Amino acid sequence: MSQKLCVYCTNIDIKNREIISNDLAWVFPTNIPVVPGHILIVPKRCVTKYEDLSSEEKKAIEELRVKMIHALKKAFGAEGFNYAWNENKMAGQSIPHFHLHVLPRKESDEGITEYEPRKFLYRPGSREITEEKELQKVCEVIKESL
Ligand SMILES: [Zn+2]
Repeated sequence: MSQKLCVYCTNIDIKNREIISNDLAWVFPTNIPVVPGHILIVPKRCVTKYEDLSSEEKKAIEELRVKMIHALKKAFGAEGFNYAWNENKMAGQSIPHFHLHVLPRKESDEGITEYEPRKFLYRPGSREITEEKELQKVCEVIKESL
């Protein structure tokens, strides 16, 4: 996929939502969260599949994941996490730029209590869109917890 056509590579609202980055990857909150603090970890290079990532990029994503779970525990009281990615259109990948979903979960949250990926990842259009202003607040809360 050309970077010119990819929203993760071109959308200024998404760029402005950056929480943290390293040399090869970065993190931002999705605008259609399942639970508060639902974030995406993406490689800077525009690749579609996990297999397309170099081992350095996989390491960079893992480094950010570890940092984020600590921040999400502090910021949202996360007691557990859902991790997921969709690969290819028929599996629900709506943006052809690899992205790891990280969902902070806790006992009382209003997200999905059973693991049914189709309910929260396969039909992203069925979720409500969060305003940019509110997403910026989410970024602030997480950044303060890093
Ligand atoms: Zn991209």
